[in-house]
Amino acid sequence: MHLDDTIVAIATPPGRGGIGIVRLSGPQAVEIAQRMLFVARTKVDDEVSGRAVTLSAGRAIFCELRESAEGERLDEVVVTYFAKPHSYTTDDVVEISCHGAPVILQRAVELALEHGARMAEPGEFTMRAFLNGRIDLTQAEAVRDLIDSQTLYQAKVAAQQLQGSLSHRVQDPKQKLVEVIAILEAGIDFAEDDVAVIPGPEITRRIAELREPIEKLAASFQYGKLVHQGLTLAIVGRPNVGKSSLFNQLVQSERAIVTATPGTTRDLVTESVAIGGIPIRLVDTAGLRQALDEAENIGIRKSMEALADADLVLLVLDASVPLDDVDHELLRDVNDRAAIVVLNKADLAKLAHLPPHFSFQAANALADGDLSSGKDRQFITASSETPVVLASALTGEGISKLREEILRHVHGAGGASAEPGFVTNVRQHEQLRKALSALDAAHAAVAMNTPHEMLLLDLYSALRALDELTGATTADDILNLIFGTFCIGK
Ligand code: GDP
Repeated sequence: MHLDDTIVAIATPPGRGGIGIVRLSGPQAVEIAQRMLFVARTKVDDEVSGRAVTLSAGRAIFCELRESAEGERLDEVVVTYFAKPHSYTTDDVVEISCHGAPVILQRAVELALEHGARMAEPGEFTMRAFLNGRIDLTQAEAVRDLIDSQTLYQAKVAAQQLQGSLSHRVQDPKQKLVEVIAILEAGIDFAEDDVAVIPGPEITRRIAELREPIEKLAASFQYGKLVHQGLTLAIVGRPNVGKSSLFNQLVQSERAIVTATPGTTRDLVTESVAIGGIPIRLVDTAGLRQALDEAENIGIRKSMEALADADLVLLVLDASVPLDDVDHELLRDVNDRAAIVVLNKADLAKLAHLPPHFSFQAANALADGDLSSGKDRQFITASSETPVVLASALTGEGISKLREEILRHVHGAGGASAEPGFVTNVRQHEQLRKALSALDAAHAAVAMNTPHEMLLLDLYSALRALDELTGATTADDILNLIFGTFCIGK
């Protein structure tokens, strides 16, 4: 990858639009642009029209895009010049805003190529910003996430990361790690000069201290992953309990087929919605009726297995009729996984007098109509932590409560959402995990009185992992600390 040539690409999405932008970046950006751009023909100032334009930094000018000085005019454009280093890539950047016709944009790119530019590789503008040191790796990833975001919340999270929120959280523990390394290196290099080497327990304390924020950050991935990728929520329950109706309530559209005859929705219906800014893929399993026909309980099992991928299960029960064996089996099935039980058809069940929060047991007993039967006892073993929501897919009652419960599940994961800057992708998480295990190895090495040379290997591998998260610490950084902060005076 060369950094000294000038790259060009269409910066706006493919297809027609009001405006399409061709972006040039590199040392010849201005020169190349000036060979394609000419003073616009105006009634007032006709004698200068057709002359080459002069771009000045930070100013947008109106001009013409032409094949050549004498050649035909292709479009009227607005050109903005960002002089180095105050540009996206830190190189000279010229952005030509044309009318958004794909043929014009294509021709503008071809002209730039003819005048000496090179076609940019995917992501190369951002890569240059990174290689030129304007942004670090997590910020480069944030650019991608921001562009890909589906909800405003995701965009906000990415924008924070673009500002460096994630790097900021790594900075402090990383600095502390560099300090420990510097102290140990000093002890080895200047042993004969009586440089005090810190005792084992002090090293252990320092490692533990810097490990904690890294651990916390790594744990934020549980939540960050949900924010980034969203979650899959499967709606299960026996036929006719109101799964499709509930699905529709959540989607607020008529995507699933709702019918009074059980089992008309044959296939899994999926739809994505944003709840609290988290993309949620809803899967309506009403179509599993067919499997049920063939073998009642086995069918249910199978459907549950098929839904093992779901991050969260909504088990829908019909509150207006006593629960049957299938309901009980489903309740047992969701017992050991993340689930919310929805007691649907609350409008028919006349349960309006119930307090907003009531226990699983009470819900079971009410829906079953009889607490004394043996079946109930077995049933009550269902996890009391599983939230129960009384709802009506028909009237919409309880739906907002259901949304709340879904969000509670999302926020329960990690709960690190309060602090800005959390880990949203696997690469970042992987680097943090590597750093943590290297720190653990270092911790163990101290306990075993391992020579500091060996201990340093682990610490350096932790540092390397953190480096790969954001960008590089050069050996100079460590040397500077030894000779600067620690005042060895040699
Ligand atoms: P599914 O087979 O579980 O997907 O159930 P559907 O969503 O197709 O609903 C079955 C029937 O129950 C339809 O006639 C719905 O209109 C009706 N239904 C669904 N939810 C409610 C509810 O909360 N109250 C009442 N009264 N009827 C409902």
